[in-house]
Amino acid sequence: MKSISIIGAGPAGIEAASVLARQGFAVTLFEKSSSVMKNVADKAFLFPDFTAAADIVEDMNKKLLNSNITQRLDTDIVNLAREDNNVWKLTDAKGNSYYSDLVLVATGYTPFDAHRKEELGYGIYGGVVTSLEMEKMIRYDQIVNSMGERPRRVAFLQCVGSRDEKSGNHYCSKVCCVTAVKQAIELKRRLPDVEAYIFYMDLRMWGQHFEELYRQSQQEYGVRYIRGRISEASGTFDGRVQIKAEDTLMGLPLKMTTDLLVLMVGMEASEGTRCLGKACGIAGEYGFFQSVDPHLNDCRTSLDGLYVCGTCKRPMSINDAVNDARAAAVVLALSVRD
Ligand code: SF4
Repeated sequence: MKSISIIGAGPAGIEAASVLARQGFAVTLFEKSSSVMKNVADKAFLFPDFTAAADIVEDMNKKLLNSNITQRLDTDIVNLAREDNNVWKLTDAKGNSYYSDLVLVATGYTPFDAHRKEELGYGIYGGVVTSLEMEKMIRYDQIVNSMGERPRRVAFLQCVGSRDEKSGNHYCSKVCCVTAVKQAIELKRRLPDVEAYIFYMDLRMWGQHFEELYRQSQQEYGVRYIRGRISEASGTFDGRVQIKAEDTLMGLPLKMTTDLLVLMVGMEASEGTRCLGKACGIAGEYGFFQSVDPHLNDCRTSLDGLYVCGTCKRPMSINDAVNDARAAAVVLALSVRD
């Protein structure tokens, strides 16, 4: 039976490992961190149905119990090369080598670094936080402003590091619109008196039940939506954040003081994705992996025996990444039988 290496132990990597191991393949799952599911572990609830992220992590961990999966944590694969005998050689950051017949890359994404948007004051003013930090506040029920007090007003800003000329990312990160809606609802459930505003360019409610969630946020929870981009954030003497924006529906400039400004950061290609894409010569736009054909052959690459799945190709939701991983596992298993 062929051996398969999977690089990246996020939802996509684990799902693919589980499917392939059940098919009888000897699977080795490489992960550079010391634990699996790093990007999901600190999330509170998943849209659109508010499933607890901890339940998903637990379910995915159970899938790793298959004895045909060998886990190699703390192993950062930095190079991939096909040897003359058609075997893939994987090299880690410490110089160790591993060999397998086939490789599936699932190295995922990294959140946009909000420090790069200096005008929004992240890292300067304590009241400016990222969507990841808000997710942790919700999860651990510690929603406080920079003074450690319960906030009275919270503003969310969409498209931070996505659809943005300045950061060089013209693409939409796909999940941040619905994440803001979900977080605003979570906020109102915990702190019913808080005022929640979402500043948006467009609201992209592309998935099943997303539109309903958006309506629910307004009708049931009173979340307010302002079409416009925040141009600048600055700190006030009492630890709050003053924002300047333009309401593009009203055509009016706007100033608002808020306790928390939540930056909905987009997805970028992870360091591992960029590194391996470069090493193999199949890096696509914005550092994400390039598949052969996004319509009919989205799991294969131009290199024989090298496959890709999940957010190392482009931004996608967790359930889309898991489904993509299943598809990749099937394509990979069938390729061995061809
Ligand atoms: S999903 Fe929404 S917030 Fe995220 S980049 Fe796209 S339009 Fe902007």
